Amino acid sequence: MAASETCGAPHPERPGVACDRRPHDMTGFHHDGAAGAFWGAEPPPEARPVGRPGLAAMAARTTRSGRTGSAADAVTRWTKTTEESER
Ligand SMILES: [Zn+2]
Repeated sequence: MAASETCGAPHPERPGVACDRRPHDMTGFHHDGAAGAFWGAEPPPEARPVGRPGLAAMAARTTRSGRTGSAADAVTRWTKTTEESER
């Protein structure tokens, strides 16, 4: 393997310090062993871990309740049944 297989991300506040970890997709943290420096890494904007799954889940939830309405019906039915049986 080539010796140049490092992340190579520059330290934002310390010129000359660069990440010497193996490439880690800019996640977790950067580390320069020679300088003894750690600094946080940020995921690239188009690969944010929360964005797409979160939106997809929200869309699925909205679509489902809007299309069937069975959950609301079930609650209404259950409430009526409970009230009637308690009387
Ligand atoms: Zn790095």
